[in-house]
Amino acid sequence: MLIVGEMDLTLTKSKGKGEFHCPTCEASRVYDHRRVKRFLTVYFIPVIPISTVSEHIRCRTCKRTFPMEVASLGPEVQQRLKKVHFANDVRRVMVLTMLADDHAEPAEIDVLRRVYGEIAGIELSDEDIARDIALARRAPVDAAVYCRAIASRRAEDERNGIVRGAFLIASACGEISAERLEQLKQLPKAFGMSEDRFRGIIAEASG
Ligand SMILES: [Zn+2]
Repeated sequence: MLIVGEMDLTLTKSKGKGEFHCPTCEASRVYDHRRVKRFLTVYFIPVIPISTVSEHIRCRTCKRTFPMEVASLGPEVQQRLKKVHFANDVRRVMVLTMLADDHAEPAEIDVLRRVYGEIAGIELSDEDIARDIALARRAPVDAAVYCRAIASRRAEDERNGIVRGAFLIASACGEISAERLEQLKQLPKAFGMSEDRFRGIIAEASG
C-alpha cells in the first residue's frame, strides 16, 4: 500500500535577498526571502511540491522571520522605526541609571520625557514611565550591562547620545548620588568609549 500525504517545508535555499531594517536587531541587516512549500509525500518523504503556503523574510543575523511587508517598508517608515528603537535604548539606559540609587524624582522623570520626546517625537505617558520603572526594578541588568549588550548595534554618535541621556537624568536634581556616579563611570567601558570622549559629553551636557 502506498502511503501518500502532505508536508509543509521551509525552503532554506533563498529565493532572493535584500537589505532591511530588522525590528529585532534594530539595525540594517541582510535578509533572505524564503518560501514555505507544501509537498506531496510518499512514505513520508516529500516528493512533489504542490503549492506555496507562505513566504517570509529571515534576518541573516538574528535568524528571526518576518512577514514580507517588513522588507518593503518605505525609507521614511524605516527611518522612523530606527529613531524610535534608538530612543528606546536611550530610555532604558536612562531609567536604569536613575534607579541605580532606587530614586525616581519628578524632575528626573521630566528629563526622561524630554530626551525621549526629542529623539522619538513621542511623548511618554505616566503609565509608560511607571511600567519602565517597574520593569527596570525587576530587571537583572544594570545600565552598564545593558550598554554592553547593545554596543554592537549602536553607532558612535548614538552611544554618545545614550551616555548624555544617562548623565542628564543622573544629574537632574543637582548632585549625583554615589550609586549613580558609580553606574555612570562604567558606561564608557561598556561602550568601548575613551575617557576623554566621556568627559567631553559630560562637559557639553552640563553646559
Ligand atoms: Zn535581525
